[in-house]
Amino acid sequence: MIQTSPKTFRLHIGIFGRRNAGKSSILNTITGQNVSIVSDIAGTTTDPVEKPMELLPLGPVQFIDTAGMDDEGSLGLQRLERSRQVFDRTDLALLVASSNIWTEFEAKLLEEIHNRKIPVIVVLNKTDISPPDPEIVKSLREANYTVIPVSTLSGEGICELCQAIIESAPDSFVNRPVILSDLVGPGESAVLVVPIDKEAPKGRLILPQVQSIRDLLDNECISIVTGLSNLPQILSRSGFQPKLVVTDSQAFKEVAQITPPLVPITSFSILFARFQGDLQTMALGALTIDNLKPGDRVLIAEACSHHPVEDDIGTVKIPRWLTKKIGGSPQFTFTRGHDIPDDLSGFKLVIHCGACMWNRRTMLSRIERCLRAAVPITNYGLAIAHSLGILERSLSPFPGLLNTLKTTRSV
Ligand code: SF4
Repeated sequence: MIQTSPKTFRLHIGIFGRRNAGKSSILNTITGQNVSIVSDIAGTTTDPVEKPMELLPLGPVQFIDTAGMDDEGSLGLQRLERSRQVFDRTDLALLVASSNIWTEFEAKLLEEIHNRKIPVIVVLNKTDISPPDPEIVKSLREANYTVIPVSTLSGEGICELCQAIIESAPDSFVNRPVILSDLVGPGESAVLVVPIDKEAPKGRLILPQVQSIRDLLDNECISIVTGLSNLPQILSRSGFQPKLVVTDSQAFKEVAQITPPLVPITSFSILFARFQGDLQTMALGALTIDNLKPGDRVLIAEACSHHPVEDDIGTVKIPRWLTKKIGGSPQFTFTRGHDIPDDLSGFKLVIHCGACMWNRRTMLSRIERCLRAAVPITNYGLAIAHSLGILERSLSPFPGLLNTLKTTRSV
């Protein structure tokens, strides 16, 4: 059975350039498959096309082929918007240009990618038609850009391009942070509480749980996985004290009551606020709940679209806990996937899921967007913990952050 890596572990490589620069041909040549439709007609690629592959020795990558960044007309502008959204999830960009065409358009696109702090490789395509202009290559290389001339027709430069991708992978991808094993330590135990309720998918665990177990195994830690009902029995075993108890956020209250005060507890969602995003920003964002008033606008955003169940966490439980906490209902907006409102300025708070299906860059881009709009952002686990009055307890595995939080609260 072939197991594919989830997107969260894939280096996302966005392919940008003007229409007909050969972006799709490059994707097809690298992957050895006809993933994107190729034609001489400009604008053949409309929506972004994604293709996962293993790029050894780097590992799993996700190519995203975009429509031309010079698209026009009303539909073209919509496609352009979709292509721009791809910047938010791009870990490494390929800027594709025809080998002898380098105009203000390409220069501006390169500048935009550079300003977004995305590492970029300039791919000068169609060398079979004309060789790249040596002056262009020289000036780009003098500006420290990696430039690879290629021909998808002859295959020239494709191996060099793959090598350049491997060498340009950001350090944050090559040396990814761990999820929780640094909080546990080799030979020590973490208890993972996984309630099997209506929301639990039939016959399997969800991604954050699986990834947490794998992280513990990779680092020689002991993981004990249990439902809520057996937790008291496990924790009362004589001489047993786990380094950490991690729970599904929905069982936070019960787990906090059962677990002895000296044992740190947190939730999968909070671990993912650290692993996928920025735990400090999101923990401080949770404090906004103290100042929320009934009627304030709150955006609840989920990274993936799943069919909401009866007691859905995002659309039912969090609104219910929050309403109880502030003594009246805020005005909620719910979104799923990559689309959130363009104008965030009217929201008092954004509450985000753990984004286990995304790569880290996508989540960081979303946090940055909220901060640019001066809207605090927090995540499900932190919002639930604070609504239930156990925010500090839920951050007990992170004493440094806890101090920052206490200082902020006392100011
Ligand atoms: S809603 Fe968010 S945290 Fe939950 S499974 Fe989807 S991406 Fe993962």
